[in-house]
Amino acid sequence: MKYGSKQVNSLPPYLFSVFHQKKKKLQEKGVDVIDLGIGAPDLPTPSFIIQRLSEEARKPSNHKYSPYGGCSEFRQAVASFYKRHYDVSLDPDTEVLALIGSKEGIAHMISAVLDPGDGVLVPDPGYPVYQSAIHLAYGSMIPLPLDEAKGYVPQFDELSDFELADAKLMLLNYPSNPTGGTVDLNAFKEAVEFARRHQLLVVQDAAYDLVTFGGYKAPSILQVPGAKDISVEFGSLSKSFNMTGWRIGYVVGNKELIQALSIVKSNMDTSQFLAIQKAAAAALTSDFSTVKANNAVYEERMGKLLPALEEIGMKAARPKGTFFLWAKVPDGYTSQSFSQKILEEAGVILTPGTAFGAGGEGYVRLSLSVPSARLEEAACRMRKIMKGGSAGEAD
Ligand SMILES: *Cc1c(COP(=O)(O)O)cnc(C)c1O
Repeated sequence: MKYGSKQVNSLPPYLFSVFHQKKKKLQEKGVDVIDLGIGAPDLPTPSFIIQRLSEEARKPSNHKYSPYGGCSEFRQAVASFYKRHYDVSLDPDTEVLALIGSKEGIAHMISAVLDPGDGVLVPDPGYPVYQSAIHLAYGSMIPLPLDEAKGYVPQFDELSDFELADAKLMLLNYPSNPTGGTVDLNAFKEAVEFARRHQLLVVQDAAYDLVTFGGYKAPSILQVPGAKDISVEFGSLSKSFNMTGWRIGYVVGNKELIQALSIVKSNMDTSQFLAIQKAAAAALTSDFSTVKANNAVYEERMGKLLPALEEIGMKAARPKGTFFLWAKVPDGYTSQSFSQKILEEAGVILTPGTAFGAGGEGYVRLSLSVPSARLEEAACRMRKIMKGGSAGEAD
């Protein structure tokens, strides 16, 4: 007797829950594991947001069901953020929808758009949720080649008409998890042009829109003239305001796509707790000083970890966005063999690049959302292993 459906039973286990189990096992054995596989900020939610939550939580009017698409205060806050930050105008009633985290929204959008057999262009390497959601929606995945030399921008000219025959949707994710790749507005222009030419819809995942460094400002795909005819952009409070557990995000852009998603969602959920939506509205209309302070922390950690990696033959570009380093494994290793070695001999968890698709071979992802002292300890342990115990002498 099989309890799950064919699609559910043929889904590989959710990668990060597998890592979690491995980590627990090692910890039970007494290993002091340093987890650089973390995909969530280690820093706390800014206190002004918690303050607003606690005020709103006390109001009985916030204890009932939210409107399906989210309350107007939240949707207006998203629209005003887009106006202020990107100079993009949005109708809060039809072009903004509240989500219970963007992961939920992206997965449901995929099922709202696909018919069985429809193809989806997916960044490879890319966020694993895309692939699972496509599988659950009976879609087929078309790996979108990325140009490593140009910072992981899409390489549309590598796609053949044959591959594109059944394609309906293109997923993009900039700033990108896991590569840290970023784009300028021109790359989004090219993506929209390509999508128009091939009659594709576009979903841009902007989970790291505000997690950027060194004066770089990530563009919105909706800044491309006409993009709204075929595109939506997903945003989240999770990474920029350290709110992963709160489960609050949004999607903006094309109203027909948003309408399709809201039909799916209104049959499945009744949006997020109103107090959380209102606290999130306060975050989005804030001066972003907490975001800047966060980014400075990641940048400082990056400055410490990058040279340490270089020293042991792990080349990594300095990312302009996300809190990940995407590093080449030293010569003679695969993603898997290297992360295995580092886990077993150093007690440090790295995410093998292949966890994000075949295009991730030869790389590992390291998270910067780990306190500096632990990052330094991890670097020290790795150095010891890779340089045969000479780490102490250098100090
Ligand atoms: C973390 C992450 C998300 C999901 O964030 P939510 O907490 O569900 O809003 C979406 N996309 C990428 C690429 C991410 O790394």
